Amino acid sequence: MRAAVVGSGIAGLASAAHLARAGHQVTIFERFDAPRPVGAGLLLQPSGLMALDGLGLRAAAMDRGARVSRLIGRNARGRTVLDLRYSDARKSDYGVGIHRASLFNLLLDAAREAGAHWRTGSEVFDISGPDTDTPCLHLADGETTAPFDLVLICDGAHSRLRRVVCPRARERVFPWGAFWAIRPDPDGAREGELEQVYDGCRIMIGLLPVGDNPADPQGRPGVSVFWSVRGTQRDAVLAAGDDAFRTGFARYWPRARLAVGEAGLGDFAYASYQDTLCPDWRRGRIMLLGDAAHAMSPQLGQGANLALCDAAALAAAMADHGPVQHALKAAERARRPATTYYGLMSRALTPVFQSSSRLLGWARDIVFNLSSRLPGLRHWMGWTLTGRGRMPW
Ligand SMILES: Cc1cc2nc3c(=O)[nH]c(=O)nc-3n(C[C@H](O)[C@H](O)[C@H](O)COP(=O)(O)OP(=O)(O)OC[C@H]3O[C@@H](n4cnc5c(N)ncnc54)[C@H](O)[C@@H]3O)c2cc1C
Repeated sequence: MRAAVVGSGIAGLASAAHLARAGHQVTIFERFDAPRPVGAGLLLQPSGLMALDGLGLRAAAMDRGARVSRLIGRNARGRTVLDLRYSDARKSDYGVGIHRASLFNLLLDAAREAGAHWRTGSEVFDISGPDTDTPCLHLADGETTAPFDLVLICDGAHSRLRRVVCPRARERVFPWGAFWAIRPDPDGAREGELEQVYDGCRIMIGLLPVGDNPADPQGRPGVSVFWSVRGTQRDAVLAAGDDAFRTGFARYWPRARLAVGEAGLGDFAYASYQDTLCPDWRRGRIMLLGDAAHAMSPQLGQGANLALCDAAALAAAMADHGPVQHALKAAERARRPATTYYGLMSRALTPVFQSSSRLLGWARDIVFNLSSRLPGLRHWMGWTLTGRGRMPW
């Protein structure tokens, strides 16, 4: 079977690796000319690690990343707001913080070793014949490809091709985003905790150990540093300059200030997020996967994990169900309960950590603190963190 994968992000590369290993002829179309070792750290959850098991990549991810045992959040006065351990869900559970470039390299190598062809500088502009057995891709440089038996749209949260499959998709840019950078870990640690400091809902600073930092010439282990900022305040933060930015870290959290070191705003990237509600993921032989199907804010650290699980579910469905259209339907049925659950949770919880509301921050600190003492609720929160949450239908 000839398969086209649009986008070499996490969903695209993982799907390409699965399909090529199953003997299909896979071409990945990627718009960038060359990858760069940039981007925030990602937290791989037990769900995503299980999906990596299916590609034999868990050990390599652990080798390059940093093992994470716990999520701990404190308020500006040092009081614990959130304290979730992976072992609250299952004794053997853990997460892995990893540089996006490390995960990208692992998945790309797996896809290419399995025989997938990776075409960079190939932006897909449109898809013709979506209701026929012969969909073709139209590239931005004017090329039209030969027909494919299967097209996977994995072009991320800001997908331009989503509408080919789902003209009814609802997209909402979240009002808050964050400044992110990967910095040398002040402790040189290759394992640890995801730590956050909050001041109401307006301030959220975080540190996530990520292990290897491919961008660091000295090879020091990295830590992902983030500071959430309302989109409308972004220019004001940039205008206030590096000293004010670094002083902000120092005021709330000396260790985060240490991690920032001499870095300034020019070393940080600003990421904005988007929520997407997509009632249709399939049209004929075409399917949306990853953020193209279900983008959400990264507050719960699930998007990359959902993308890895989408790819694994598609591979399983392709192996079990004859015609392509049947396999796509089975894959969607397998994935909807999890993506619906995390979409709802993300929409409910993101404003509790990033918004202008005083009341929400105050209520959050009380409710989360109480709930982490109630074993049933604590287990459910831990379970949600692991990526195994799903709607019961
Ligand atoms: C700051 C930040 C922190 C995050 N932290 C976490 C975390 O800790 N844990 C977690 O699980 N998730 C996290 N996420 C979410 C995670 O990054 C995404 O859910 C994940 O990358 C989705 O994978 P994807 O393959 O769907 O899309 P992407 O990884 O975005 O890949 C899309 C690819 O498609 C390419 N492309 C786009 N348009 C075209 C086109 N027209 N033609 C060809 N190629 C195209 C792009 O260049 C890109 O390579 C975070 C996100 C952000 C922004």
